[in-house]
Amino acid sequence: MPVEMDKIVSLCKRRGFIFQSSEIYGGLGSTWDYGPLGVELKRNVKEVWWRDVVYNRDDMEGLDAAILMHPEVWVASGHVEGFTDPLVDCKLCKKRFKADAISTNENKCPECGGELTEARQFNLMFKTFMGPVEEEAATVYLRPETAQGIFTNFSNILTTMRRKLPFGIAQIGKAFRNEITPGNFTFRTREFEQMEIEYFVEAGTDQQWYEYWVQERFAWYLKYGINKDNLQVREHAPQELAHYAKCCSDIEYLFPMGWSELEGIANRADYDLRQHSIHSNKDLSFFDEDKKQRYIPYVIEPSAGADRATLAFLIDAYREETVRGERRVVLGFHKSLAPIKVAVLPLLRNRPELVQLARTIAEGLRKRFFTKYDDTGSIGRLYRRQDEIGTLYCITVDVQSLTDKAVTVRDRDTMLQDRIPLEALERYVMDKFS
Ligand SMILES: [Zn+2]
Repeated sequence: MPVEMDKIVSLCKRRGFIFQSSEIYGGLGSTWDYGPLGVELKRNVKEVWWRDVVYNRDDMEGLDAAILMHPEVWVASGHVEGFTDPLVDCKLCKKRFKADAISTNENKCPECGGELTEARQFNLMFKTFMGPVEEEAATVYLRPETAQGIFTNFSNILTTMRRKLPFGIAQIGKAFRNEITPGNFTFRTREFEQMEIEYFVEAGTDQQWYEYWVQERFAWYLKYGINKDNLQVREHAPQELAHYAKCCSDIEYLFPMGWSELEGIANRADYDLRQHSIHSNKDLSFFDEDKKQRYIPYVIEPSAGADRATLAFLIDAYREETVRGERRVVLGFHKSLAPIKVAVLPLLRNRPELVQLARTIAEGLRKRFFTKYDDTGSIGRLYRRQDEIGTLYCITVDVQSLTDKAVTVRDRDTMLQDRIPLEALERYVMDKFS
C-alpha cells in the first residue's frame, strides 16, 4: 500500500525538501521549489545518473545545450504542428478543459454546466520573444524537451569526439510544457528537468539496443533502492505511439495515484536526424568506415524525469514504523541519494567542551561527506529529525567522549550504536560508504 501523497507533500514542506513556488504570494499553479534538503536529494539523483550513464561508460558523451533554440528546430521536430492538445472552453465560466476529458454525450462544462466551444488545438510549447522590441522580435520557444539540442549537436559531437556508432549523448536540463492538467505534486509540472540519452545506432541493430536500454534503465532504479514490486515496464500499444516512435516502453512506478510513467524508452528510428537534415540542409549522416557506407543513424531514447525520479525515490524511501514502543518516520534512502550523510550531535548543548568537540568532528568529516552539526534539541528529538530526513549516521558526542576519546555512531536503519575511537572515526564512516 503506497503512502498517501498528502503525507509526502506535508513532510516535504515541514522538513525543507519542497516548497510551493512563490508561496508568499499564494503560490503559482503546479510549480515547486526544492528547499535545502530537496536540492541535495535531486542533485544526488542527477549525479548518480550522470555517473552511471556518462562516466561509467565508454560509449557516451555529455552535453549541456541552450534552452532557447532556433525556431525552425521545432518545425523540423514536429512540435509546432503536432505538439498539441484539443481543448474546449466553457462559454459561461471561461474554464478550459481537455476535449477528451469531456464525455461526448454530455458536452457540457463539468464545473458549471455551461455550453462549450468546439475543440481547438492548443500548442503545449511556451512562447517567448527574443530581442528588445516585442513586435519585431523573433518568437522563440522554451524547449519542450532536451532531446532536440542533442540532435542539432549530433554532427559536432561525432566529429570533435571522433566517435563511431554506436554511441550516445546524455544531457540533463530544464524543459517546459504548458500542460493543461498538471498535478500530483511534482509529478506533472509545467517546468521540469529531464535526464535524456540519445543513443545512435545502425539501422537493423535498433531493436536490440532498444531492448538493452529498457533493461538497463529498469535496473538503474532498482540499484538505487526502488522496491521492485513498485516498478514495471509497460510497452505502448501501436495507437499510443508518438508520431516519431517506432516503439516505446514506459518504466512505471506505483505512485500514490497509481502506476505512472517514470521514464520512457523510445525507438525514434531515423526520424529526428532525417528531419533536421531536410530542414537545415546539413548532412547529418554517418560514414561507416568498415562498411564503406553512409547512412542516417537510428536513435534509441531513454528519457527520464529528474523530478519524477526524485519523487519516486522519496515515496519509496518513506516508512512509518514502531521500534521499542516508539513510533518513527524514516526516509530510508540509498546511501548515494540521502541528502545528509552524517549528523554530529552533542548530547548536551550547554557544555562548551562537548560543543567544541562535536564541531571539530563535523568540520573534519565535512571534507568528505555532507555533514551537519545540530544541537537544537534533546538527543531523542534530534535522532527522530535525522531519521525523518534520511540521514545515514548520527554521531553523538557525550560526556564520556571527553575522557575516552570515542563517540557513538548510530545507524539510521538498524538504530544500532557503535562506540568508535575518534582516531578511527573517519575510516569507519568511509568504510560505510565504500
Ligand atoms: Zn463552466
